[in-house]
Amino acid sequence: MKNEKIYVVSPFLPPLEDYIKQLEKIWKNKYLTNQGPLHKELEDKLSSSLEVQYNSLFTNGHLALEAAIKVLKLPKNGEVITPAFTFVSTTHAIINCGLKPVFCDIKQSDYTIDESKIEELITKNTVAILPVHVYGYPCNTQEINKIAKKYNLKVIYDAAHAFKVKINDQSILNYGDISMVSFHATKLFHTIEGGMLVYSNLELKNQADKIKNFGIENGEDVIYEGFNGKMSEFQAAMGLVNLEYIDEIINKRKYIVEQYIKHLKEIKGIYLVPFQPGVEYNYAYFPILIEEEIFGKNREQLLNAFNDQNIYPRKYFSPLISETKCYKNKIRQGDLSVSKSIADRILCLPLYPDLTDANVDEIVRVLKNER
Ligand SMILES: *Cc1c(COP(=O)(O)O)cnc(C)c1O
Repeated sequence: MKNEKIYVVSPFLPPLEDYIKQLEKIWKNKYLTNQGPLHKELEDKLSSSLEVQYNSLFTNGHLALEAAIKVLKLPKNGEVITPAFTFVSTTHAIINCGLKPVFCDIKQSDYTIDESKIEELITKNTVAILPVHVYGYPCNTQEINKIAKKYNLKVIYDAAHAFKVKINDQSILNYGDISMVSFHATKLFHTIEGGMLVYSNLELKNQADKIKNFGIENGEDVIYEGFNGKMSEFQAAMGLVNLEYIDEIINKRKYIVEQYIKHLKEIKGIYLVPFQPGVEYNYAYFPILIEEEIFGKNREQLLNAFNDQNIYPRKYFSPLISETKCYKNKIRQGDLSVSKSIADRILCLPLYPDLTDANVDEIVRVLKNER
């Protein structure tokens, strides 16, 4: 057993001097939060770097998602069609906004919502679709858009994993009415804690900016049951520094993913999501699916073998949200058999810029020994 522990992620930390330079600005201008100059600078830089028109920053991705749901003023108790194969934040956000999630199955091929199973879940109470670009793999935005148009539904994307992902040279964040990205420390790009919404029009941004500031309008009257969702200057400072390194981070991740793929090609019984033409990926996660009949061992056995070597891949996303104590038997759902079978077999391998070739070799060695 090795002493060094390899976890599924390791947060990116820029050179300390870079961060201190930003902190010096804060000490000079004494703006600590409430849309200060660094907040403004980061919002603008992200808008141009991601090629999105209307965006705003939040103190975390979860509250950003709640603001996205609130700002669309969906009728109370309306139903929102969403996958159960996601992080629990997606479901919590719908519930916390007084709406009802309805779980739709996902696709075997890339784990995103199965657009062919959305229509059968639509009722007169359906108000929105909330798909997830899980692991940064793009949902079928075109089909989802068609369904939304046909039934007059809003579309909110949980794009927590999809920072910098593009399809046909267009940011994935420009699809749907609103998209939410997470800037949590463990995500591809981070502001320690943080998040962002991208809107399809300016009015949505203006209103959501009030929601994140207690629903206050023009510093006086209160027009929404809002909350405190503001990003601080210290978070924005981290974002400004990290943004300088994002291309380097993605390139290093791409290299590691390529190494993994090269080695895994020799191992039967491990399914990888194939790259689609026209998609620019961000290499945020590296999920592998273990096909026990071919591979010879199941996910739990493989996970134990990894843990014995001090390697800690994660079962993202298992259990399914529909199987958690909080939500089991409480949410209307379609047939979730694909979601269940994926959740039982998926494993995310360690992936972060500092992961060395030797680390990758070690991880691959465990996989080869276990088959
Ligand atoms: C991380 C994550 C969130 C929540 O983002 P935070 O910034 O941690 O609040 C929501 N949905 C998904 C799919 C996530 O992975």
